[in-house]
Amino acid sequence: MPEAGTGGIGRLAIVGLGLIGSSIARGARQYGLAETIVAIDRDAGVCARVRELGLADHVTPEAAEGVAGADLVILCVPVGAVGAVAEAIRGHVKPGAILSDVGSVKGSVVAAVTPHLGEGVAFVPAHPVAGTEYSGPDSGFSTLFSGRWCILTPPEGADGAAVAAVRHFWEGLGAIVETMTAEHHDLVLAITSHVPHLIAYNIVGTAADLETVTQSEVVKFSAGGFRDFTRIAASDPTMWRDVFLTNKDAVLEMLGRFNEDLAALARAIRWGDGDALHDLFTRTRAIRRGIVAMGQETAEPDFGRGRTGAAPSRDAAGGGTPR
Ligand code: NAP
Repeated sequence: MPEAGTGGIGRLAIVGLGLIGSSIARGARQYGLAETIVAIDRDAGVCARVRELGLADHVTPEAAEGVAGADLVILCVPVGAVGAVAEAIRGHVKPGAILSDVGSVKGSVVAAVTPHLGEGVAFVPAHPVAGTEYSGPDSGFSTLFSGRWCILTPPEGADGAAVAAVRHFWEGLGAIVETMTAEHHDLVLAITSHVPHLIAYNIVGTAADLETVTQSEVVKFSAGGFRDFTRIAASDPTMWRDVFLTNKDAVLEMLGRFNEDLAALARAIRWGDGDALHDLFTRTRAIRRGIVAMGQETAEPDFGRGRTGAAPSRDAAGGGTPR
């Protein structure tokens, strides 16, 4: 259970009450990380649902009005929308406040937000490396970030007190906080998150397009590895479109490496080089074991699905999955 305490955050404003925004709202309330929570979402239906769920003290579709007086404003919209939201709230965030975000890409977010930063507002970009394939305010849960990494990418010369406050906030949500540059973040996440999602989208798309294997056979026999790709490939289309469009260079760089290694694997299969295959599969198994040992994944066979094929509970995996 994370340690409670507002750490000086009286009023917290969250823009975008989807999976991440609503999980932050739930966690901030549960762990006492802010005195007042303001929820802002452009969608009237989302606002109504947030009110029903009681996720915030105030709910509004007006971003400029909602961020007024907030000590910490967190943008939880798709990375392609962050710049427009920053522009809309420009001049309404009070001096001395902290502006942060949760975007899965950091370089483009810094470039999009910086021109709209108001006088005396400290910008501390963040990326909680946790998520699920679900979207919207009903999909969030307070323990999503528990035991997961949250990467801060403060720009050079960032206000130290603001960085410490954001760190304290994420630690309060149960995350383990690490700091790095935005460029390094985008390179690391390209290989650990973005390219794996692209591969999942691609393999599920290929299977769906096959003519010699019917759709019903793909669904029926999906337990053989394919099913795990379908979970990732069910992730939010808008969010992931934006990730690939805004982290283009790093993704293409990693995809180039991936394609070269795939070609080497194809060659090993073609020429019957079993040693090459065995060596690689031994190394990759060690990586999986390392991730489990670090507590970032469940050690249960088949992700704890059991014989029924049911999904593991969120608690079994200690929250969501790294994204
Ligand atoms: P989500 O569940 O789809 O929620 C996004 C929210 O942003 C929705 O309420 C959406 O409202 C709103 N929004 C979309 N476009 C907007 C715009 N142009 N202006 C204002 N609001 C807009 O998405 P999420 O999974 O919470 O992702 C939010 C952010 O978290 C993204 O930047 C993503 O990169 C990052 N992130 C996601 C994960 C993950 O696994 N999902 C993990 C870590 C970080 P509408 O309903 O009107 O579209």
